[in-house]
Amino acid sequence: MSWTTAQAKRLRPMVIAQWGMHCHLCGKSIAGLEDYSIDHVVPRAQGGSNELSNLRSSHRACNYSRQDRSIEEYQSLNTDQVNWFIGLAA
Ligand SMILES: [Zn+2]
Repeated sequence: MSWTTAQAKRLRPMVIAQWGMHCHLCGKSIAGLEDYSIDHVVPRAQGGSNELSNLRSSHRACNYSRQDRSIEEYQSLNTDQVNWFIGLAA
């Protein structure tokens, strides 16, 4: 199943209700929807589903900078680089 903007918009309220406005990648709160993105715990490129159990709230910048890395890989990245991406979105 492909992932579309319409689908993301439809799922967004459910993901927020489940996980709140809190980025699962950096642990910080998400200021507003313009900064909000749905992230896949198991990336779609690795066969991750679009089920609520595989979806988390994230910053757009964190989601973008994660790309198709695993969560462990992402969190082992250079923190300055991650902060740079977050600063870029602010
Ligand atoms: Zn974040």
